[in-house]
Amino acid sequence: MSKLTLISDALNRVIDNKEISKDEAYQIYEESQQNSFELYKISQILRNKYKGTHVTYSRKVFFNLINLCRDTCSYCTYKSEPDQSKISMMSKRDVQNLAKIGKTHKCTEALFVTGERPEQKYQEARTWLKENGFASTVEYLIHASEIALSEGLFPHTNAGNLTKTEMNELRKTNVSLGLMLENSSIRLSQHGMPHEFAPSKYPKARLRVLKDAGELGIPITTGILIGIGETAFEIIDSIYAIKEIHKKYGHIQEIILQNFQPKSDTMMKNVPSPEEKYFKTLVALARVIMPEMNIQVPPNLSPDTYASFLSVGINDWGGISPLTPDYVNPEFSWPAIDTVAKNSLKAGFELKARLPVYPEFFSFVHPDLKDVVLGKTDSEGFVRMEYQK
Ligand code: SF4
Repeated sequence: MSKLTLISDALNRVIDNKEISKDEAYQIYEESQQNSFELYKISQILRNKYKGTHVTYSRKVFFNLINLCRDTCSYCTYKSEPDQSKISMMSKRDVQNLAKIGKTHKCTEALFVTGERPEQKYQEARTWLKENGFASTVEYLIHASEIALSEGLFPHTNAGNLTKTEMNELRKTNVSLGLMLENSSIRLSQHGMPHEFAPSKYPKARLRVLKDAGELGIPITTGILIGIGETAFEIIDSIYAIKEIHKKYGHIQEIILQNFQPKSDTMMKNVPSPEEKYFKTLVALARVIMPEMNIQVPPNLSPDTYASFLSVGINDWGGISPLTPDYVNPEFSWPAIDTVAKNSLKAGFELKARLPVYPEFFSFVHPDLKDVVLGKTDSEGFVRMEYQK
């Protein structure tokens, strides 16, 4: 068989519910450099087979709880220093007020984001926590999540590497958690690489947390940052690392494929964002490697072309806020939800609002939250119309 036939054969096997090996995925990537038609076509067939004709999003409020961080990633502009004007340290009242405003904007998700254990590095963080009555950021996150939940929002926390005990507490209020793997390659943590000064991004540490969440049965969103100095094969390896954990625990609810965007105030300011062809090929491959997975591309990071990702296998736009900025990529504002709906429809897909937990993971949600989740959702698990308008 020729190389081309082998690849076509491998891709067609996926349609028959068979898996492709990592080596086959490498070959498909290489072949698609010349001709990506077959890969894109199969990714679309798989997407339609497993995800139907809708595309989802979560209407969210972004709570930038505290953006001091113990670590330093060389692409990050989210992290603040105590003397910078972008510093955010939200009081309990700030959390409550923003949750109330979110509710009036029909948001359903409270996305809580913090830097990695800021109190380990900054006195300012320790003082702020003490003033609010807490000894650690996680203790405060637990309380802030309770506030958001009592105001009618569903918390989803993304606070870096958490311990099992911490995740077990957070699950009482959080319908799901988030932790970007970024990449499974240790090379990206070596000298001169983006995670050199971010021990929390060491793949072993991140994969441990993803496994711990699996042992606890907590639905978790993870993802890969594309364009930070990795090779395509390292992205493929990362997808397989996620797949392996998901195979064992079945708790990975979504993979975000996020295209890197350089920020002028970072060490990686001169590194270009990944080429769209490279990004799309990897998105399509993710669908082929994990045909049933929920795959998200953030629409604000590809403002002119996001709808075209619907033809390479994605089925979700992630959290979109009608209210708060994307504090991780503040220069990229969210598209209006109506516009996303129109563009999705033009591409043949109906936009549906979901909660920060996907319908197929409702059974994972803490028993105390199940009635609230079911009360807000319709028979398919999407947000009921009366909570959207
Ligand atoms: S990306 Fe996260 S861990 Fe890295 S510096 Fe920024 S806030 Fe800290």
